Amino acid sequence: MAIQKAREFSEPFRITKGGKFRLKDVDPGDTLGYGTEDKPHAKEALAMGIEALAGLQDMLYAQDRWAVLLIFQAMDAAGKDGTIKHVMSGVNPQGCQVVSFKTPSSQDLDHDYLWRCMTRLPERGRIGIFNRSYYEEVLVVRVHDELLRRQRLPERLVTKDIFEDRFQDIRHFERYLTRNGVAIRKFFLHLSRKEQKRRFLERLENPDKYWKFSASDAQERGRWDDYMEAYEDMIRNTATKYAPWYVVPADNKWFTRVVVAAAIISALSELDLRYPEVSPEQRKGLAAARQALLGNKARRQSGGA
Ligand code: ATP
Ligand code: MG
Repeated sequence: MAIQKAREFSEPFRITKGGKFRLKDVDPGDTLGYGTEDKPHAKEALAMGIEALAGLQDMLYAQDRWAVLLIFQAMDAAGKDGTIKHVMSGVNPQGCQVVSFKTPSSQDLDHDYLWRCMTRLPERGRIGIFNRSYYEEVLVVRVHDELLRRQRLPERLVTKDIFEDRFQDIRHFERYLTRNGVAIRKFFLHLSRKEQKRRFLERLENPDKYWKFSASDAQERGRWDDYMEAYEDMIRNTATKYAPWYVVPADNKWFTRVVVAAAIISALSELDLRYPEVSPEQRKGLAAARQALLGNKARRQSGGA
C-alpha cells in the first residue's frame, strides 16, 4: 500500500479534535463505497500493506529512536484480536509486543490506574500494542460504579468530576509520552449492536468458538447505550493531534483491517525513519572485516588455514 493510499483509507476516520465528535456520525457499516466485490482487491491491498509495514518496522527497530504505541478498544466481538493478528502478521515478533489488559489484579489495584500500563510501554525501536488499556478506566469503570469502589481511592478524591480528571490525566500522560518519542495511535473498532448479535450467535453455534463467549459478554451488551455514551465522551475528551483516535467501522472485518493497517503505515511514515548512518570510520571497519573474511577463504582454498 503506497503511503498516499494509506492516507486515503485512514484519514476519513481520524479524529484529532474531539469537541464536536458524535458517534452517530460514523456508520459501522461504512466501507468508503467499496462493495463485497472489492474484497479480493482489499485483501491484495492488505497484503501489500503488511509488507510495507514490515519494511517500516525494520527501520524503526534499526534506528532505535521512536517507539510506537497502538491502543485498541472496542465492544466484545468487534474484532480486536483478529485485526491485531492480521495486521501485524508480517512484522518481526522481536520488534513487537502485544499486551492484553484484563480485570485488574489485586496488585494492580494497590497502585494508581496508569501503573500497570506504564510498566508495559514499548521500548524505543518497538511497536507496542495494547489490547484494551487505561481507557477501560473511563469505560467499563464508568458504566459499573462498583469497579470504581474496588479501587480503594481516598473518599474525598472520588468526586463527580472524577472522569473529567481522568481525561485530563490521560491527555497529559499521552503528551508526555509523545514528547519522549512514543508515537501514539488509538483505535476504536466501531461495531453495530446488530452485527454484535450476529457474531455472538455465530460463536454459540460453533463449538470451536464457544471459548470466545462468556455470559458477561451478553450482560455488557445490555448496557450498550451506556457504553456508547462513555465511548463518545472518551473520544471527545482524548482525541488530540498528537494522539488521535481512529473510529474504525467494524461491521466488515476486511474493511476494518485495511483501515487499521493504513493508519499504522501513515503513522510510521510520519516518523523520520532511516537506517542508521554508517560513519567513514565504521565503513573502513566493515571493509576490513570483509577483506579478512575473503582472505581466510582464499587461504583455505590454497590449502592454508
Ligand atoms: P477480549 O474481550 O478483550 O477479547 P477476553 O474476553 O479474552 O478479552 P476478558 O476476560 O473478557 O478477556 O477480559 C477483559 C475484561 O477485563 C473486560 O470485560 C474488560 O472490561 C475488563 N477490564 C479491563 N481493564 C479493566 C479495568 N481497568 N477495570 C475493570 N475491568 C477491566
Ligand atoms: Mg471478552
